[in-house]
Amino acid sequence: MISILSSSDEAIALENRYGAHNYHPLPVVLSKGEGVYLWDVEGRKYYDFLSAYSAVNQGHCHPRIVKALKEQADTLTLTSRAFHNDVLGVYEKYITEYFGYDKVLPMNTGAEGVETAIKLCRKWGYEKKGVAENTAKIIVFENNFHGRTTTIISFSNDPDAKKHFGPYTPGFIKIPYNNTKALAEALAEKDVVGVLVEPIQGEAGVYVPDEGFLKDVYDLCRKHHVLFIGDEIQTGIARTGKLLTCDYEDVKADILILGKAISGGVYPVSAVLADDHIMEVMQPGQHGSTFGGNPLGSKVAITALQVVKDEKLAENAFRLGNLFRERMNQLIAKTSIIQLVRGKGLLNAIVINDTPESSTAWDICMALKDNGLLAKPTHGNIIRFAPPLVMTEEQLHECCDIIEKTIITFEELA
Ligand code: PLP
Repeated sequence: MISILSSSDEAIALENRYGAHNYHPLPVVLSKGEGVYLWDVEGRKYYDFLSAYSAVNQGHCHPRIVKALKEQADTLTLTSRAFHNDVLGVYEKYITEYFGYDKVLPMNTGAEGVETAIKLCRKWGYEKKGVAENTAKIIVFENNFHGRTTTIISFSNDPDAKKHFGPYTPGFIKIPYNNTKALAEALAEKDVVGVLVEPIQGEAGVYVPDEGFLKDVYDLCRKHHVLFIGDEIQTGIARTGKLLTCDYEDVKADILILGKAISGGVYPVSAVLADDHIMEVMQPGQHGSTFGGNPLGSKVAITALQVVKDEKLAENAFRLGNLFRERMNQLIAKTSIIQLVRGKGLLNAIVINDTPESSTAWDICMALKDNGLLAKPTHGNIIRFAPPLVMTEEQLHECCDIIEKTIITFEELA
């Protein structure tokens, strides 16, 4: 029988003893979630201000999504793509119409989605653009985060993600983010087939590029007959106040990568969307995954996307995001602990007035936890704030009160 742990210490000790140490979690052991709330094994209640890195946009255990999961789990869960199933086509029609593409290639995790997009783009380069075999290059940006596979970390510049995992996959040109001039120069190189871009760099610390940057990237891609690959795994599905962050600049990615909240955080689903003239280069046997497109994930994803529309989550994220940044700017006026707040919709970060090596951001997150709000530092002195999008205005104000109270205590200690 599997025993359910009743103390946080016991659970943490087990993870430390038996699990690989590839994460450094905050010491809180969660056992229940509902909407914007989480509870630990001791029964303490918290506001979730991370949403599993934006995978739980629809809130924890959303009743409609969980119902869809349970119903489908009772009926059919996995067939592999050796056979057809009666949900996949319905899902494919739904998601392609939802985002306005001809075709979707279903996968499971975000990193798999990115790998798929890279393969698709390269193949398009060879078969449609006419680039010589094995010479295709994809432009990526400094401080990118697209996942953890060997190819993806090959173009990372985070030493933790990269060191001792070589040899690395060639074929990528890395240039500064938010720099149109550098992009124009890189695009002049021979054999470039794609530009892989996060519309906001989430992991890097919610780094929002200048207005017009995405449109410039798109226009330059058109000019050089190169594919715009939009990684909206973290920024998509209403997180930043629009369905997709590229919508802010009326840009439609040639290859769109989605993951995380596409299934409301209940089951791994990712998707790569493109029009026929691109997707048609993928033929049987050239790509796939045992679980990709399974009926359970497909059913869950349809429902998760319906919830985003029915509950107007993009509109809510837009409105509450403005309120959040307003409240944080008021706080910044009162404290020297925070340098700035930045973000779009409900994907935000505060930058702590300390070096990335200092422990201040971590200490603040520990204090936030003690005050009933869960958030995590990213890159040392930056704290990302990304609550579920089902949050109400009243709840948001309560969260801002908690953040304010916590920061002021640090000000007094400093
Ligand atoms: N791309 C972006 C922009 C991400 O933020 C992430 C995860 O944080 C990924 C890709 C990788 O997704 P996964 O962890 O599901 O592989």
